[in-house]
Amino acid sequence: MSDTDPVAPGLEAWIARGREVAGREDRARATARRRRFDTIAVHGLYDHLAAADNQGAIIEPAYLAPAQHFVDSDHLEAALGYLMPAWGYTRIANPTTHYLEETLALLEAYGTDVTASCVVTSSGMAAVHLATNALLAADPARPGSTPNFVTSAKCYGGTFMLFLRYASERGIGVRWIADPLDADAWAEAIDGDTRFLYAETPSNPAVAVVDIPSLADLAHAHGLPLLVDSTVATPACLRPLGLGADIVLHSLSKAIGSSGLAIAGAVTARHGIPLRVGSEEERADFATQLKLLPSRDFGASLSPASALNLLSDLRTLRTRMDVWSRSTLAVAEFLEAHSAVKQVWYPGLASHPGHAVAARDFALADGDAEGRPAVRYGTLLSFTLHAGLPAARRLFDGLELIFRATDLGRVKSVAAIPSISTHQQQGEAGRAIADVDAGLIRLSVGGEHPADVIADLAQALD
Ligand code: PLP
Repeated sequence: MSDTDPVAPGLEAWIARGREVAGREDRARATARRRRFDTIAVHGLYDHLAAADNQGAIIEPAYLAPAQHFVDSDHLEAALGYLMPAWGYTRIANPTTHYLEETLALLEAYGTDVTASCVVTSSGMAAVHLATNALLAADPARPGSTPNFVTSAKCYGGTFMLFLRYASERGIGVRWIADPLDADAWAEAIDGDTRFLYAETPSNPAVAVVDIPSLADLAHAHGLPLLVDSTVATPACLRPLGLGADIVLHSLSKAIGSSGLAIAGAVTARHGIPLRVGSEEERADFATQLKLLPSRDFGASLSPASALNLLSDLRTLRTRMDVWSRSTLAVAEFLEAHSAVKQVWYPGLASHPGHAVAARDFALADGDAEGRPAVRYGTLLSFTLHAGLPAARRLFDGLELIFRATDLGRVKSVAAIPSISTHQQQGEAGRAIADVDAGLIRLSVGGEHPADVIADLAQALD
């Protein structure tokens, strides 16, 4: 039975069909939740019944068509009125992106009793914008009040620039926290107009971590949601919803989509989030409301071709993050021991200020190859040289294997100098508060043998 098989005429009959289709998905979701991380990543909700609806295809088909044909006018009315599960038009929904959203929601909630939904977007920035913009809507109960939010300053340059835009174009208060591990600073920045707390962990490029459980407690004590950009960690290494966060953001363009065949983002939210301003529907299922309303209207939807590429990458996420994180630790240890290197930031190093927090909160889903609990810290590190930016440029220009690009999480190792690239436009003052040293080199370690990555760094350092 599919949602398009003919039914008896009438709107009610289509709504009843919708309930059956939704019930079938609920059962598939419950079955998936009993499975291990890798199994969910490989299959998601695409089961034998779903395959039967798709000519038996064992891989989710890419529905590239912009629109769905409806059996009759009642079917059209039920679908476009959101009275039954349907896709209608790819800007609103699409079967292929639906499978990606369902898999991401399941992985983000893995190992917890959290129920979550997800909406995918055309880029990571579209996801950050979609989620934060919705939380900054005018408060009808307090006309003229100006919302604010509290955010770690250690975040991706694009996010920093978006937040500056909120401030300059809409007068929204952006309260920057320079040290995201300073609990008092977060607490002091909250007032009656605060709408949410925002943090990135590990951050790009400073690779700072935050204490998610204590930030979540603080946010919830004020009736606020905690948003965490977990792009660098991925759900294989860190599951913020299980630690108390309410909304998780991803640039899927990075480690989740490590092959580099798609730009995409995702907002995943637990059901039942605290909101000072917002509808009951948003509180109940924030991500689905984003999908049905603002995402439909802003139009930053994901191409189904990209969704299929991402589904393919997602299937091996845990294994990749396990192996590549270990390679990254080996590279970090090499750099830390090198006489030309001033400092290395990687949460897996004991010298990292957030190491204890990361060691407590990060956990490779399902543990190591023997099933023993294991901590993996992701594939991003950064470092500075004693001789500053000129030496950083020389090292950068001398790389022969590692690519020079503003990219990370990739199967190929990639280096960047954020102060002259991703974090250039936020200016010196913005970089100072975000702790982006002019000579900082950001390195994303990929799937190469770590010895070759180390050899390339060694020859460039020499
Ligand atoms: N969040 C983080 C942590 C990022 O590193 C990036 C991009 O580098 C983004 C969000 C934005 O993602 P996208 O480039 O897919 O728009």
